[in-house]
Amino acid sequence: MVAVLGEGIPSPIDKPIPAPVPPDMQQLINPSAAIVSISRGDHIQFKVLALSDIHGKISALTSILAKAQPSRPDLVVVAGDITHFATRSEEVWSILEVIGRSGLPYCYVLGNCDPPQFKGGIDGMGMCLESNCFTVGGFSIIGAGGSTSTPFGTPFETFEEDIIDRLEMGRSRCQGQSRPNLILVTHNPPRGQIIDKTRAGSHVGSPKLLKYILDIKPILALSGHIHEAIGSELIGDTTAVNPGPAFRGSYALIEVDVERRQAFVHRGSL
Ligand SMILES: [Zn+2]
Repeated sequence: MVAVLGEGIPSPIDKPIPAPVPPDMQQLINPSAAIVSISRGDHIQFKVLALSDIHGKISALTSILAKAQPSRPDLVVVAGDITHFATRSEEVWSILEVIGRSGLPYCYVLGNCDPPQFKGGIDGMGMCLESNCFTVGGFSIIGAGGSTSTPFGTPFETFEEDIIDRLEMGRSRCQGQSRPNLILVTHNPPRGQIIDKTRAGSHVGSPKLLKYILDIKPILALSGHIHEAIGSELIGDTTAVNPGPAFRGSYALIEVDVERRQAFVHRGSL
């Protein structure tokens, strides 16, 4: 059944993806690391403003950026669905331009509701992570957009293997970066406990992406796509975060402590 949520935004998936997660891998997913507020310590080195699922709602994006500015993020990361089924580059550009005006460096992947022909990036606008490696503040950031198959036949759908291939392409372009400094950004969530759970209770994240995260061990894995699956959890020792849909005012501020290999996640809302 196709479920349509408020404001005309379809829930991306309401059906389970059949591929099971092996039991031994399930033990490495820890749902206990729910979003928590922790005061800044001496070792915090980098602060990420994580956004996803803007769906073209510039008013919410503008308000989030204004509200987050006093926290002085070092970087804005957008995990896809920048637009709501845009077909022209100008529509993507108009949203990214709002982020650019904040003066903060930013990077992004496209979502399943964005035009896939622009996955190579929009000229001069932030950094498109697609098959690329963005280095900032001592971090290497890789990303891949789109989602696996949905019941809606949305514009940018692909296979799990393709998402992994594009992430690997990006990772191969990260040079001289040590393992603890890797950040991974996808629109599609990995299979998890919190960040891929639909309203119907199905876990629809990618098992292959889960395995990939366990293999390459990024310090942070950001995703979106499942609007109702706001939260964070540990996958191995990677902190995986779904900041929630920005078009509804949801975002996350994430403080990354490289030395201790920890990420403190603060949920934000308008
Ligand atoms: Zn979305």
